[in-house]
Amino acid sequence: MTPHAPSYYAATANPFPAQPVSQGDLSADVVVVGGGYTGLSAALHAAEAGLSVILLEGKRIGWGASGRNGGQMIPGMRWGAVELVDRFGTDHARRLLEVANAAGEQVRARIARHAIACDLRQGHFHAAAKPAHLEGMRRELDCLNTLLDHGAASIVSAGDVGDYVASPVYHGGMIDKNGGHLHPLNYALGLARAAQAAGVRIFEQSPVTAIDHSGPVVATTPHGRVTARHGVLACDAFMGELDAGLGRMTMPVANYNVATAPLSADQAKALIPSGAAVSDSKFVLNYYRLSADNRLIFGGGEKYSPTPPPDVAGFVRPYLEGVFPQLKGVGIDHAWGGMVGVTLNRLPHFGRIGQSFFAHGWSGHGVLLTTLAGQLIAEAMRGTAERFDLFAALPNRPFPGGPLLRHPLYVAGMLWYALRDRL
Ligand SMILES: Cc1cc2nc3c(=O)[nH]c(=O)nc-3n(C[C@H](O)[C@H](O)[C@H](O)COP(=O)(O)OP(=O)(O)OC[C@H]3O[C@@H](n4cnc5c(N)ncnc54)[C@H](O)[C@@H]3O)c2cc1C
Repeated sequence: MTPHAPSYYAATANPFPAQPVSQGDLSADVVVVGGGYTGLSAALHAAEAGLSVILLEGKRIGWGASGRNGGQMIPGMRWGAVELVDRFGTDHARRLLEVANAAGEQVRARIARHAIACDLRQGHFHAAAKPAHLEGMRRELDCLNTLLDHGAASIVSAGDVGDYVASPVYHGGMIDKNGGHLHPLNYALGLARAAQAAGVRIFEQSPVTAIDHSGPVVATTPHGRVTARHGVLACDAFMGELDAGLGRMTMPVANYNVATAPLSADQAKALIPSGAAVSDSKFVLNYYRLSADNRLIFGGGEKYSPTPPPDVAGFVRPYLEGVFPQLKGVGIDHAWGGMVGVTLNRLPHFGRIGQSFFAHGWSGHGVLLTTLAGQLIAEAMRGTAERFDLFAALPNRPFPGGPLLRHPLYVAGMLWYALRDRL
């Protein structure tokens, strides 16, 4: 059995028994490929709507980004309200944000309803890395308040940053009570248990090697085949291995996290007095939060080549110590990485192929939106596709450059934006 990648989360995972391998010919109303939040949520919502569901996970439930991420529940989408209004107009932007912002409430409701023990905490602080970024946040909040009855977010001036985070590098920020943080793997495992209770049959170690959408959906695994009326492709950064066309729409980017040794309760409180999740406004952002046992869980730096750095902790440490000089030399107990599926414009990519649905390309903003996506997919299967189609209509195009050049072109672009962080 492939274990979860070693991480703080794997070391503190709630028990979840290994699931069987898919064998022989099976059938269901729905076959879901991928056992991260998107697939689990689609399976759970479809089962609750009365459909029979089989979920096929190539490794273990939560093995992908859903079991390794920073746990930051960041409201909204990667594009802010101002950008959405500029591009789509006021009404369309409002509708998108209304649906996207429902995701936070939905995740909290799921956690409460299924009693998922995943260390849920309230609050997300978006820290301004430059004074101009704080001005941008003010405009963003004004726009949000005009579009929605928001009220949950407020601007924090440079002088008050210390109430939220004890770092000398920020120029203010925005605190949003609708945000928060959680233990990502335990949330995924909790969704899996809820899906099973709703009747979903889950198989692990069952990678789909081919999928046919030409009639009924047929998903082939090494030891079997599942035939279904509908398919759900929920493989995010790994989608290209299953469907080359969808793979061209995203770029897998490696991102790394560490968990420090536990801090004392006083040290932890002094570091992030608000207890909120924090992410900053850099292009290659730093994001961090406190775990339930008072470790700092810190993500920083991106690597555009597929090989991980030989020393992940050594790779992340300079970013951590840049934000918190007072933690110089702090012990690091766990270090790990994962693949983020990034689209060209950072908006997720939703759509249909025959009777199958897909949603991927969360661009590092998937903890909340994926649970919502699963619901929208299940709604669309039941014939109410209005909210799914709102997202399916978002503009997306493949990365330029063809198979040989797309990665080098992408790296050149990323390095340029990363350089701007330092200017
Ligand atoms: C290091 C890191 C930090 C992040 N931090 C944050 C954060 O703080 N906040 C935030 O909002 N987002 C964050 N993200 C992004 C977020 O984790 C993802 O957007 C989200 O988890 C995607 O969920 P998913 O279900 O679509 O994909 P995944 O969780 O990646 O699940 C896909 C699953 O499909 C399986 N699979 C793939 N191919 C096949 C196949 N052929 N057959 C069967 N199974 C298959 C994989 O094994 C995997 O389990 C982060 C991501 C990473 C990697």
